[in-house]
Amino acid sequence: MSSSIRGSRSPTRNPQLAPHELPELPVRYRWLDCPGCLSHLAINTTESPAGISGSLRRWSADRSINDGKLLRIEPSDLLPGGGFVVTCVCGQSIVVPAEPDAISAEREGDLRVKLGE
Ligand SMILES: [Zn+2]
Repeated sequence: MSSSIRGSRSPTRNPQLAPHELPELPVRYRWLDCPGCLSHLAINTTESPAGISGSLRRWSADRSINDGKLLRIEPSDLLPGGGFVVTCVCGQSIVVPAEPDAISAEREGDLRVKLGE
């Protein structure tokens, strides 16, 4: 005889199943070319009132160069209009426009975990 009572459904929500309390900032992508080293640049940032943080990656057309660096832009370093200046790995200063080429949407449910009904 089966005596186990498993899978009893409780109408109460499990408070431990709140995976993301913190809102995730969207990632902004900008693609530029560096006039100094003629490499392609991909600048990925997250922007908040505390400033901008992110990374710069560069690669040359023949891919002999492929490196990057971290970015940190203080709010006081922002240009009027929201752009900012980054320094390429080669030392070239580059003005980055405020408007990104792309923005990552928040994850749209693709990480939904099924917990066995
Ligand atoms: Zn460069």
